[in-house]
Amino acid sequence: MTARILVVDDVLPNVKLLEAKLSREYYDVLTAMNGPDALEIVEREVPDIVLLDVMMPGMDGFEVCEKIKSKANLMHIPVVMVTALSDTADRVRGLEAGADDFLTKPVNDIALFARVRSLIRLKIMMDELRLREATSSSFGVADSESTEVEVGGGRILVVEDREIYARNINQALVDNHTVTMVSGADDAVAAARAADVDLIIVSLSLQETDGLRLCSQLRSMEESRQIPILILVDDTPDQMERLVRGLDLGVNDYLIRPVDQNELMARCRTQLRRKKYEDRLRANYHLSMTLAVTDPLTGLYNRRYLESHLENLMQRAVQNDQPIGLLALDIDHFKAVNDTHGHAAGDEVLKEFATRVKRCVRFIDLAARTGGEEFVVVMPDSTREVCMAVAERLREAIAEAAVPVPDQDLEIPITVSIGVSESQGASDSPAGILRRGDDALYAAKNSGRNKVVFDEQDTPTASAQGA
Ligand SMILES: [Mg+2]
Repeated sequence: MTARILVVDDVLPNVKLLEAKLSREYYDVLTAMNGPDALEIVEREVPDIVLLDVMMPGMDGFEVCEKIKSKANLMHIPVVMVTALSDTADRVRGLEAGADDFLTKPVNDIALFARVRSLIRLKIMMDELRLREATSSSFGVADSESTEVEVGGGRILVVEDREIYARNINQALVDNHTVTMVSGADDAVAAARAADVDLIIVSLSLQETDGLRLCSQLRSMEESRQIPILILVDDTPDQMERLVRGLDLGVNDYLIRPVDQNELMARCRTQLRRKKYEDRLRANYHLSMTLAVTDPLTGLYNRRYLESHLENLMQRAVQNDQPIGLLALDIDHFKAVNDTHGHAAGDEVLKEFATRVKRCVRFIDLAARTGGEEFVVVMPDSTREVCMAVAERLREAIAEAAVPVPDQDLEIPITVSIGVSESQGASDSPAGILRRGDDALYAAKNSGRNKVVFDEQDTPTASAQGA
């Protein structure tokens, strides 16, 4: 997961230090030594993250941040304020200016890389949604205007079992938000399932519950997968280590105790703004999923949408030097299902197949029905290993349970053959990657079906797996 990071600081040794640390981890680093230069580079290069010094002569970091966050085409870029001051008022001012996080000088490596990784993950998701919106609007079915959204009251779920902490948090938030307080994991999971929640705050020092385990559970649950999580940690080495693991699990932000109420309010606002922005993109995106772009039987995309979106994805993959994987799927002996049990049963099989496909792929993956029993899954930013693992999981999910057809009191066992291909840089095309996926699919069919085969350009022996 590489990214382009802009480092802004008026002191050259500071720039050099951060540049060295980030380059060592293979990030692509851009630098600027004043506000106006930074803004010009942001406009021109559109980096993935900006690390921004607060104290600079002329235009300071707050002003630079405000300018970035006021532009519709740039506001999605995460900005991390780097400050020598651990002054809370400063942090609050930065968050008001739209900053996504803070690092204190001298910059601690764990905090730096945890933060960078977490923000890049978020950015990948946002870019994906923005790109989909652009694709939808090119069909003329969506309003693609993505300016700032209003952040009114949010619905915040707080998981804290110590009364004094709980009271402080409630006090900070209750005036502007709807706050639900729970003290244990079961209640938290139930509340996240039952209610529309915009933000979940989890204490990592719960007495009865492992807060980290709860975060992991919330991340894996369908209902709460997209909800931002903010964790509260104590300033101890043990908790710092758990904080890093939390960020790796997909926790969005954190606060270190003692919690300052202003900072808590400001950080909640930042997460809520992000959530509303994502919700809005998602809503536009659902709105645009008309019959023009979806297959009515399965709800998956149709071939027309796939081809258009694949074109955009491949252009972006070349720009970012990232791989794209493609799975070409075909249900084995599907014609026999129709012939033996009729088309109604065949439709049930197709619907259930699509449901299992959706369950196995990630939100950013694109699943389409491209023909009668033919499907394609496109996986952005995914290595061959990831694609093969997902394909194998999918193959198993199809084969492991027969499809029930209650109307006919039937259970129809099915299997799937899958061909996997990957993008090959600037000379590649949507037609090319689709064709290579199909080639691998035919290899899977010819070697006995119920198999996953990777398209090998150089080695003719395919890596067949499965029963
Ligand atoms: Mg400075």
